[in-house]
Amino acid sequence: MYDYGLNLWGNNNFIVENGKICVNTGSKPAIIDIVKSIRSEGYRGPLLLRFPHLIHKQISQIYKSFESAKNEFGYKGSFNAVYPLKVNQYPGFVKNLVRHGQKYGYGLEAGSKAELLLVMAYNNEGAPITVNGFKDKEMINIGFIAAEMGHNITLTIEGLNELEAIIAIAKERFTPKPNIGLRIRLHSSGSGIWAKSGGINSKFGLTATELIEAVNLLKEANLLDRFNMIHFHIGSQITEIHPLKKALIEAGNIYAELRKMGAKNLKAINLGGGLAIEYSQFKENSSRNYTLSEYANDVVYLLKTMATQRNEVEPDIFIESGRFVSASHAVLVAPVLELFSQDYTEEKLVLKKKNPQLITELNDLLSTIKPSNAIEYLHDSIDHMESILTLFDLGYVDLQDRSNAEILTHLIIKKAAKILGTKQHNAELLKLQEEAQERYLVNFSLFQSLPDFWGLKQNFPIMPLDRLDVRPTRSASLWDITCDSDGEIGFDDEENPLFLHDVDVEKEEYFLGFFLVGAYQEVLGMKHNLFTHPTEATIEIDAEGFKVSHLLESQSILDIMEDLDYDIYEIQDILNERIEKSKLVTDSQRKQILGEMYLFLNDNGYLKTIS
Ligand SMILES: *Cc1c(COP(=O)(O)O)cnc(C)c1O
Repeated sequence: MYDYGLNLWGNNNFIVENGKICVNTGSKPAIIDIVKSIRSEGYRGPLLLRFPHLIHKQISQIYKSFESAKNEFGYKGSFNAVYPLKVNQYPGFVKNLVRHGQKYGYGLEAGSKAELLLVMAYNNEGAPITVNGFKDKEMINIGFIAAEMGHNITLTIEGLNELEAIIAIAKERFTPKPNIGLRIRLHSSGSGIWAKSGGINSKFGLTATELIEAVNLLKEANLLDRFNMIHFHIGSQITEIHPLKKALIEAGNIYAELRKMGAKNLKAINLGGGLAIEYSQFKENSSRNYTLSEYANDVVYLLKTMATQRNEVEPDIFIESGRFVSASHAVLVAPVLELFSQDYTEEKLVLKKKNPQLITELNDLLSTIKPSNAIEYLHDSIDHMESILTLFDLGYVDLQDRSNAEILTHLIIKKAAKILGTKQHNAELLKLQEEAQERYLVNFSLFQSLPDFWGLKQNFPIMPLDRLDVRPTRSASLWDITCDSDGEIGFDDEENPLFLHDVDVEKEEYFLGFFLVGAYQEVLGMKHNLFTHPTEATIEIDAEGFKVSHLLESQSILDIMEDLDYDIYEIQDILNERIEKSKLVTDSQRKQILGEMYLFLNDNGYLKTIS
């Protein structure tokens, strides 16, 4: 069985059965069967599958872990969690999250006016709301309205000017009023590629001087009783637990100091997000050094110790984990359209009566390659190919010779790959496999569906949906269908070598799954080349089988033109007029063309099939 590191990143969400990757719940359907059932209704191109049971699983694990940590240490503060909307605002996700979060009192976090208004509409009654990020008077006003509607809302202040605005607005608005939180600036910071959101130079948070001033301003305005929470966020995907521990100690001391200054309603410490998930398919490059239960235990234990040392009440704990809750629920499935060297078959070889010496040698290599010489022959064939190209530039061999060399080299690479397999993971072989890689053209846009790979080199687990009982032999690089050369996931022989199967996609379908794409990717996705959010489907699974509960087709070409503020009626009129005016076709041909044009404009822009 070839499981592509599933035991590392899979969290028991999926299992491999009969060579297929299956969802590990209820009837355990194979993902490929879900995909085929959706495609049988005519949907083509990439598919984003949402699994709501995995949202529920993450939420319940968070509450369970903190509950058990609290019990273990006899912690008296409460535990609360909110989901930060910025991580995924799509209704197909958010509505399921709110539904599954209800019994836990799971709340929502907003970072902008638009998010705040969404939160006010969808948040479970009584569940907490926190608001972070820069705010103007209007946004603060919306926060007051949320409190007046009955929401349990805390506005976290990022700077003193926001506090001054709150004080001014509080005089004008009604009761009840929102709670006020202060974002603190820690000198300890996070780790990993997102670390800049913590630390003394971070974009957010009040310095010690500003904190003192804030408490004084609140006192003067008679609003100190509304101040209930301090907040920090040391960055996303915290790879090590150590910086968080340092941050907790610092925050615990600030908490005690502020209470000493008279902030008696300050009862909560909000740790922000940052809880990491495991993206890696290889043990050597694991992306975090702690588990959820370690995280919960450390947080509870440290805050308890701090409170005891400082002789203060144990604070209520708030967390704002986004990535941890949302990443696993979504799987992107994209069909492979073509293997670059698929056309290099023996039949295409047109050898001459008298061939250049190097071609004869390549031919010999192909017929005598075997396990004991495979690495050497692979080397030789790549060298020969390079020499042939030089000879071509100098005019010594012709295009037919060059084509023969291409075909022979690819046949040797394929044969060697089959012989060598992926077992011998030595550096030299991997290096060779990088040169001998196969390019897979995949029907998706990297910019739309995996923007963090493009922007941050974040790896996501990738694997084929079936053939997992067959050894994959080809070192693979993936090409998306944008015309941008950055739209590639290259074969990474050092960190993340991906091996796929040698398939003839003209005869049989081959699908790749991209996992853990539920956090950040969807809304950060770009419309580069005017590719849109893929067709999405929500999949509910029970003991009987699976149900596609919500299917939303990818936007049409006209929709995306409209998003860019084109006048789509004008576009259609121009196209139609130009077709009408064409003198090159007959009336009945013209009618057909107009019909075709209408269909193309109203369909999405992903590819259907190549041939
Ligand atoms: C982005 C953000 C989060 C979520 O971080 P994750 O790493 O996704 O858990 C939480 N709180 C704040 C203030 C944020 O800006």
